[in-house]
Amino acid sequence: MIFDIHVHTNYSSCSELSLDEIKHTARMKGLDGVCITDHNTMAARNDLEEGLQQDGLCILIGMEYDTPQGDFLIFGPFDDLKTGLDAGRLLQTVEERGGVAVAAHPYRENRLLDKTVVEQGLCRIVESVNGRNNKEENHRVKHLVEPYDLIPCGGSDAHRLNELGNTATRFLTPIRNRQDLIEALRQGLCVPYRPANHH
Ligand SMILES: [Zn+2]
Ligand SMILES: [Zn+2]
Repeated sequence: MIFDIHVHTNYSSCSELSLDEIKHTARMKGLDGVCITDHNTMAARNDLEEGLQQDGLCILIGMEYDTPQGDFLIFGPFDDLKTGLDAGRLLQTVEERGGVAVAAHPYRENRLLDKTVVEQGLCRIVESVNGRNNKEENHRVKHLVEPYDLIPCGGSDAHRLNELGNTATRFLTPIRNRQDLIEALRQGLCVPYRPANHH
């Protein structure tokens, strides 16, 4: 199953993509699922029934949480999570609540991941291909994945409709709900995926 696990709706002030546009085009772009990961909010949750939609698209809600040590895609029961936690506290909370965290675009210029997060084993999953990264920023992630034996995955980081699904994750197990997603990521039942026609 192909999921774009990093997508921003206009609940993120930097995105112009509406939930309706995502719903109407995701299947045409070859996606089986989309994870909404707005900056520090799960507000999109109020606008839809999470899970399988009528057309078979699976929409799940997480968020992209920024910390001074890097940005994390987190999935789990985090509606009430307060902003401003550092990475250590955030990742501890994710663990305690049975969620999952993915280090987003670890080598993105200006949004670098603090390597100690990985060295200390606080985060084992990394977005190794990000649709908004340049080639070099994606390429460098292998210097993190290989030595630390991290689980790689991919997402578009779409803020516009034409970016949706340009990078994604292929799951090796069915994903029907948030819990399936959490378990598949934690177990590493996933690989980064790019459609053949991506630019
Ligand atoms: Zn943004
Ligand atoms: Zn993002």
